[in-house]
Amino acid sequence: MLSSAESPRRGLLLINTGAGKGKTTAALGTAFRAAGSGLRVLVLQFLKGSWHYGELDSAEALSSVPGFSYTMRQMGRGFVKVGGADADPEDLKMVADAWELAATEIRSGEWDLIVLDEINYAIGYGMLNPETVAEVLQARPEMLHVILTGRNAHPLLVELADTVTEMREVKHAYQKGILAQQGIEF
Ligand code: ATP
Ligand code: MG
Repeated sequence: MLSSAESPRRGLLLINTGAGKGKTTAALGTAFRAAGSGLRVLVLQFLKGSWHYGELDSAEALSSVPGFSYTMRQMGRGFVKVGGADADPEDLKMVADAWELAATEIRSGEWDLIVLDEINYAIGYGMLNPETVAEVLQARPEMLHVILTGRNAHPLLVELADTVTEMREVKHAYQKGILAQQGIEF
């Protein structure tokens, strides 16, 4: 492995996809790591919004500590079930607004790491054009790291990415009828 001296810092595109649990939590873990290294972190959550996630409170607490820059925003109203032609116009509007904000923040130069949580679902549901996302990502500031999460990552974005991880489900507590646990799932 090259040391950081041999390998100058550069912005990476990472994707966490697959059917197993851990896509968002791995992105948040990276965000936690990045914030501790002095990177300015922005987490934008597509589709999510109806549940209160513990990470929102952690982000707020961390952002109040001098030297830490960690901002998190929910841009949806909960999981949408259908997309494309059947999508609720309200959900389409929320995705469009989330993407407009994401694109502005990507171009702004104000961040070192941006997490676009669940954006793969918005693309997969036909609510967001993958070509548009790819164009903005390709034109992003050189040093900006971006993480995309959600199942069924679009092949165009997988092609563009530097690091792609597919979470594979071995088993999940849900299959035993155990409902989502606070602190672990949300
Ligand atoms: P997490 O936020 O826990 O890292 P994730 O980002 O990998 O999960 P999502 O597709 O965003 O997965 O789904 C979020 C919710 O669905 C979480 O509560 C998670 O525990 C749950 N979940 C993830 N994978 C599975 C699965 N294979 N079966 C059932 N529930 C799952
Ligand atoms: Mg997730």
